Amino acid sequence: MAAQLLDGLTLAKEIRADVARQVERLKSERGITPRLSVILVGDDPASVTYTRMKKKACEQAGMISDLIELPADSEQETVKDLIRKLNEDKTVHGIMVQHPVPKHLDELDILSTVAVEKDVDGISAMSLGRLVLGTADFVSCTPLGIVTLMERYGLEIKGKEAVVVGRSIILGKPAALALLERHATVTICHSRTQNLPDVVARADIVVAAIGKPEFIKGDWIKPGAVVIDAGYNKVEGRDKDVGDVEFETASQRASWITPVPGGVGPMTIAMLLQQTVKAAEKYAH
Ligand code: NAP
Repeated sequence: MAAQLLDGLTLAKEIRADVARQVERLKSERGITPRLSVILVGDDPASVTYTRMKKKACEQAGMISDLIELPADSEQETVKDLIRKLNEDKTVHGIMVQHPVPKHLDELDILSTVAVEKDVDGISAMSLGRLVLGTADFVSCTPLGIVTLMERYGLEIKGKEAVVVGRSIILGKPAALALLERHATVTICHSRTQNLPDVVARADIVVAAIGKPEFIKGDWIKPGAVVIDAGYNKVEGRDKDVGDVEFETASQRASWITPVPGGVGPMTIAMLLQQTVKAAEKYAH
C-alpha cells in the first residue's frame, strides 16, 4: 500500500496564518512589530532566492524584514560589526545570516556573533550548545520543521529507532538532537558509515539530509517506516527537483513520507517566522 503524504505545504500555510494572527496580537496588545534582519553575503543565486522568499514571507505575516546585502569580498570584521549593531538594535528581534557565506569567511565565528536571544535560525555555537543541553530557545529551522511536521501529524517519536543520514551543522546534527530530545533512539550516518542500507533498514524514522538525488533506495526502507526527505536536488534533464530518497519505491514501503517539493522545504520558512515572533514575544522590551 502506498504511504500517506506528510503535506508540509499545507501545514506551513496554517502555521504562517497562525504567525500572522500572533503578529496582529503583538502589535495591538504590546505595540511590537516583530522584525527580522537577514544578512546575505555575496550573490549566490540560490541564497538570493531564499533570502527574498524569507523577506516576502515576513511581510505577508505583517512583520518587518530587512534584507541586508554585503559584497562577496566582505571582511570578517565587517560582517561581525554589522551583527553587533543589530544585536544592540532594540527594534530588531531576529537576525539570520544566510548559509553558506563565502569560503574566505569563518562561518561559525560569524554565526556565533548573533546574540542568542535573537538567533532565530538557531545555529550559533550558543544555540547549538543549548540544544545539546535541552534548553534551546531556538532550533535550526529545517530540523525544527521536520519534528514539527511529525508532531502535527501525530506521529510517535518517543521510543522509535531514528536514523539521520547527514551530519551538517544546519541540518543533520540538530535534527538528530531534536529527535533525541523527543526520546527517539538516534543513529547518525555520514559519508564514512559502513553498510548504510543495513542501518537505514533498522529505522522506524529515516531522515535524509545528504544532498544527493535519490541516494536512499526504496528497498532499504523498513516496511511501515516514516520517511522524511530534507534533500533538494536539481537534476539535469528533469523538470522537477528531487529529494535524497527514491520516492516512488520508498513510498511503496513507508507508512508516511514527505514529498519533494512540498514536504520539508516549506516548513523551514514557517519555522523562521514562528521563531522570530517567539523572540519578539519573549525578549522585546
Ligand atoms: P551538507 O552540509 O553537504 O551535508 C551533507 C551530509 O551528507 C554530510 O554530513 C555528509 O557526510 C553526508 N553524506 C554525503 N555523502 C554521503 C554518503 N555517500 N553516505 C552517507 N552520508 C553522506 O548538506 P546540508 O546543508 O546538510 O543539506 C543536505 C540536503 O538538504 C541538501 O539537499 C540541501 O539542499 C537540503 N536542505 C534543505 C533545506 C530545506 O529547507 N528543505 C535546508 C537545508 C538543506 P560527511 O559529514 O561525512 O561529509
